[in-house]
Amino acid sequence: MFVDSHCHINFPDLASKLPEVFDLMAANQVSHALCISVELEKFPEIRALAEAHPNVYASVGVHPDHEGCTEPTVAELVALADHPKVVAIGETGLDYFRLGGDLEWQRERFRTHICAARACQKPLVIHTRAAADDTLRIMREEQAGKAGGVMHCFTESLEVAEAAIEQGFYISFSGIVTFKNAKALREVAAVIPLERMLIETDSPYLAPAPHRGQTNQPGYVKHVAEEIARVRGITAEAVGDITTQNFFRLFKSARH
Ligand SMILES: [Zn+2]
Ligand SMILES: [Zn+2]
Repeated sequence: MFVDSHCHINFPDLASKLPEVFDLMAANQVSHALCISVELEKFPEIRALAEAHPNVYASVGVHPDHEGCTEPTVAELVALADHPKVVAIGETGLDYFRLGGDLEWQRERFRTHICAARACQKPLVIHTRAAADDTLRIMREEQAGKAGGVMHCFTESLEVAEAAIEQGFYISFSGIVTFKNAKALREVAAVIPLERMLIETDSPYLAPAPHRGQTNQPGYVKHVAEEIARVRGITAEAVGDITTQNFFRLFKSARH
């Protein structure tokens, strides 16, 4: 069994073919998926998906790439997270790759999410791109470890992974780990502790090999597990079992 710890099945490419998406999950033994919020305006649609499907969970948060949208307050995030299917705060974090200029608003938004996660005791889903030092620094300053969470779609170095693990965080690998040019990332996946590892699709983006270039979907998380199994010399079933246990340990309000 596998769990997709990060997907966006409310995005039009997947929302338009949900029966097919759920069929492939079942066919590939993908038991659950966590649908991740990127803006408050779309949160009700994610919550509705989680309410309609027993094996779908939701997060609440505003993505660091979303400029000029409604800025969440700590109180709003905590109130929206008070729902049995909302198991995480995010995705949040820093992205200095997609946006430039003065990104103080991004750092402030990140701090707001960490405060909310600590207040409601739900873990953080953290996105970081070209901003690892500031991400780890703000996590430390705001004591993100008291809420815990995951560094999602991990593409950073082993040093960054170890620093996040030291703060109590999990590391989640996406289909990028199957890409030809991702040798350095496979080396990280080969050595970090299995009990801190999660797997995800980040669908509809980043379809893993052998589906590269297609619309990604949660059923394909199996290929991420297969690649990690290959580099670690264990079975995909073992990767599935341990990452599933990790998922339910981290997102403790999620029930099987
Ligand atoms: Zn992300
Ligand atoms: Zn995402």
